[in-house]
This record gives sequence, C-alpha cells and structure tokens, in this order.
Amino acid sequence: MHEYIQFPPIDLEVERKVISEKIRTAKQHALDLEIEGDLIEQYTDMTHVQYLPSENQPADFNKEKLEAMEARVLQAIAQVKTLPEFRILMKEAGFNDKFAMDMLAHENAHANVAEQKSDTIDLHGYGIIFFQEHGQVVSATPLVLNDKKDGATSFQYLQDEIEVLNAPNEYGNKNSEDDDREIQMRRDTLEKYYSNK
Ligand SMILES: [Zn+2]
Repeated sequence: MHEYIQFPPIDLEVERKVISEKIRTAKQHALDLEIEGDLIEQYTDMTHVQYLPSENQPADFNKEKLEAMEARVLQAIAQVKTLPEFRILMKEAGFNDKFAMDMLAHENAHANVAEQKSDTIDLHGYGIIFFQEHGQVVSATPLVLNDKKDGATSFQYLQDEIEVLNAPNEYGNKNSEDDDREIQMRRDTLEKYYSNK
C-alpha cells in the first residue's frame, strides 16, 4: 500500500492559462494613452481626496465618479493574489527576467510592509496595468493593489501608506517617481490637516 501525498491543487499549466486569459482581457481594455493618459494620476488624486477631513473635501467631490474611474482602471489590470502568481504573470506578459526580478523585489517590498500594516491596509494583490496607443498595446506597469481598511482612520492610513510607498527605498530597491509623488501628497495632507492630532 502506498500513502499518497495530496499536493496543493495547483496545476501550473492551468494557472498559466488562467493568468494569460487575465492578460488577454486586460490588454483588450488597455488604457488609451491619447484619451486616458492622465487617468491614473487623476484617479490617484481623486482617491486621495477621500482621506481629507470631510469639511475639507472639495464641494464637487463625487464618489460615483471616483468609483467609475476605479472600475475603468481595474479593467486594464491583470490582477493576481500571490507572489508566485505575480511571477507567472510577469513572465506571461513578456517581461524579461532582469526587469521581472527587479519589479518582483520592488512590489514585494511594498507588499511586505502593507502586510505588516494589516490594521489599516487591505492588500488585494499584484497586477500589471496595460496602456495602448492607436489600438496597439504599447506599455505595461506592474503594481501592488491595496486600499484603506474599513474602520481605519485616515490619519492612521496615511501614515502607514507612507511607509508602504517608501518600502522599496528601505528594502534594497528604489522608489518609483509615482511612489515619491504619492508620499509627498500624503505628507502634505498630514501636515495640512492632521498636524495637531
Ligand atoms: Zn512602487
């Protein structure tokens, strides 16, 4: 009689197929640089408005518009949950090994700190966002997906997010320009609205 060990039900071929299907769908909905080139920045800025004290939110802040933007951005993202899946995702998306390893270190730094901040931050996983121009996919950027946990205060969240955003610099990789821009945005908000808390 043999004892059979039940391996985790992960079939690499199946997983590759699932992930390449996610990539195919995201590419079909890639953000159009000509008409949606600023969308990520607009979305990031608008998301940030949520963390201002409500009396300081602009009168025209519109939650539905933000949700519509988020839905559009998510369409262009192939998203996975775990680091091993992210590795496959980058390979299937065609990134070369050197770039993929660098991105893995970068996003992993963000994710590790986000995991330590689980009281304030929900870590959703990893993704690649695609961009197109004249109907052709022309670029793609890896990212970590997270947001504020229900019940966390904006003050706590902004402080913890700064650490998450700054993680690549702290853990042997390098912040991106967007990381630094977002850190500055959060620092400004903390200083302007929360400095006497
Ligand atoms: Zn980053």
